[in-house]
Amino acid sequence: MSQGVVTVAYIGATILFILSLGGLSRPEASRRGNLFGIFGMTLALAATIIGVVSANYFILFGAVIVGGTIGLILAKKVSMTQMPELVAILHSLVGLAAVLVGFANFLVHDTSIVGIDRTIHDVETCLGIFIGALTFSGSVVAFLKLSAKISGKPLLLPARHWFNAALLVGAIWFGARFIGQSAVGDGTAPLLGLTVLALIFGVHMVMAIGGADMPVVVSMLNSYSGWTAAATGFMLNNDLLIVVGALVGSSGAILSYIMCRAMNRKFIAVIAGGFGTSSGTAGSGPVGEAGDIVAVDGAEAAELLQNAREVVIIPGYGMAVAQAQHVVHEITRKLREKKINVRFAIHPVAGRMPGHMNVLLAEAHVPYDIVFELEEINAEFPRVDVSVVIGANDIVNPAAQEVPDSPIAGMPVLECWKGKTTIVLKRSMATGYAGVENPLFYKENTRMLFGDARDSLDIVLKNLD
Ligand code: NDP
Repeated sequence: MSQGVVTVAYIGATILFILSLGGLSRPEASRRGNLFGIFGMTLALAATIIGVVSANYFILFGAVIVGGTIGLILAKKVSMTQMPELVAILHSLVGLAAVLVGFANFLVHDTSIVGIDRTIHDVETCLGIFIGALTFSGSVVAFLKLSAKISGKPLLLPARHWFNAALLVGAIWFGARFIGQSAVGDGTAPLLGLTVLALIFGVHMVMAIGGADMPVVVSMLNSYSGWTAAATGFMLNNDLLIVVGALVGSSGAILSYIMCRAMNRKFIAVIAGGFGTSSGTAGSGPVGEAGDIVAVDGAEAAELLQNAREVVIIPGYGMAVAQAQHVVHEITRKLREKKINVRFAIHPVAGRMPGHMNVLLAEAHVPYDIVFELEEINAEFPRVDVSVVIGANDIVNPAAQEVPDSPIAGMPVLECWKGKTTIVLKRSMATGYAGVENPLFYKENTRMLFGDARDSLDIVLKNLD
């Protein structure tokens, strides 16, 4: 295949990726966005395999078959609640690939690259390996935290900022030594030193970030994986990888910004770590321990809903765990048949990944036009008769506004307590992801409906006549 055809295919793939990102920004266009992405990736792979690769087809196809099979099995097996962990571990693979490509590139040592070109190439290698290694180790820690294999509490070492600064200075020193030695065909030791420091940096960076800040970490690692791919593109002289890496890197950075805004946090403060150093307990005290909660059963909840005119449903992580989205849709349908106005309120960090709730509601065929973002619906709560909080906790926690020293102080939350009645569905009095006690459960107009959200909602549905 001629270089011209490869270039045209690459431009086509780039356009498809841009259309894909555009589609993914709106729930109603997201399926189309995914299709564009699949076509773009198929085109990019075909052009690279046929037009760019010229040897080692046996190894290439062997790797594609083994990797593709593992990917297919994992994608089929993984449940919606494990998606964030899957995304984190996939980011780690992008990082690992960049490190391996960086080392392979260095070991080949193309002697035709000399002078300033050599220096530029070596800087690209250092950057690719550094960002790749920190993306790899940071994503592995994020995976362990998200899958609750290690504690989500931030690890706050004394003088941690100095430690980070020392790691960065050390990495720059190793990078400079590598560039000096690479000119004479050496440099393995400093490159290994740089890699180790980047790995430690990644672990330390994510370990220092607390529970409530994990959404930013996930999107930040997404961004890093993009920049890693772009750096690999520079190393391999591959324009498509540079462009696609930059697209992923910048869209991840924008998402991190949106997440920070959603939580009223400064990006630098998140990276510096420590948010979510909970003063609340993570334990699940027995129901009623605090004395003044009011519990209702499914029939009573159904009664409240039938007598309402305005209902807002607030889904959270527990709805994903209970897989309650289909019964939620059934209830919504029944209530709307009774001319009750039902709307959904989506908090930007609800669930465990950006867009988590939108995906679940789309899967259950909830119409998009009754699904609203936090800023669109928050002012409506004083006019709402019944808010139904389904397995959500942190995103409806009034402590963010009422308790100045709360770890989530300042985070915008859905102000359901301003409505007439709030029904909260959860299994116990346990705290949410950020480990912060929730005063909502003790408010006069709150009714607790204890149990698995799907079981509780099945009973509610049965009691709607
Ligand atoms: P939370 O984790 O705050 O609360 C979820 C609640 O659901 C829990 O209190 C739990 O209580 C309840 N629950 C769990 N399983 C069930 C079930 N089967 N049936 C009924 N209830 C259930 O979730 P939110 O969505 O309110 O907030 C998201 C949190 O996750 C935020 O702190 C956010 O920062 C963080 N996060 C978000 C990410 C994102 O990108 N969106 C990524 C990583 C973290 P109980 O055990 O009593 O049932």
